[in-house]
Amino acid sequence: MKIFRILKSFLLLEFAKAHWLTLKYFFKPKVTLNYPYEKGRLSPRFRGEHALRRYPNGEERCIACKLCEAICPAQAITIEAEERADGSRRTTRYDIDMTKCIYCGFCEEACPVDAIVEGPNFEYSTETREELMYDKEKLMANGDRWESEIAKRLADDAPYR
Ligand code: SF4
Ligand code: SF4
Repeated sequence: MKIFRILKSFLLLEFAKAHWLTLKYFFKPKVTLNYPYEKGRLSPRFRGEHALRRYPNGEERCIACKLCEAICPAQAITIEAEERADGSRRTTRYDIDMTKCIYCGFCEEACPVDAIVEGPNFEYSTETREELMYDKEKLMANGDRWESEIAKRLADDAPYR
């Protein structure tokens, strides 16, 4: 046994084995990504940062029915609403406390007009808690920014609903 060990060391067998392993994986497809320059594929059901959407004509979708507020198990949503001059009902305040949110997706499920959604953005870490108190302006801006990705995600997932 001792002679075998000495022979193994002398012939650098472990060294050769390690190099063979490196070579074997060198030509295989890479399983790692160079984040943040490369990003992985997201499922159409991924639940990321919230957004409020508009219709293609620019009108906000939300009709202030408050179903999302009622269903939210974390009580993270606060809505205030009033009637407009044209008789439509719209929110005057739509806040989400993102520090309370548990990303269950119930708000999106409850919304009858696909207004509140959880978009594809997962890069929104902050340095303060205050920055995670989202208001309507922030949510609408998210909707405007991510609309094409959100619309595609909803279309991809539609056949399974
Ligand atoms: S994802 Fe769930 S916890 Fe978060 S705001 Fe929507 S309903 Fe509330
Ligand atoms: S986001 Fe949807 S569920 Fe929530 S108040 Fe607006 S229309 Fe109703």
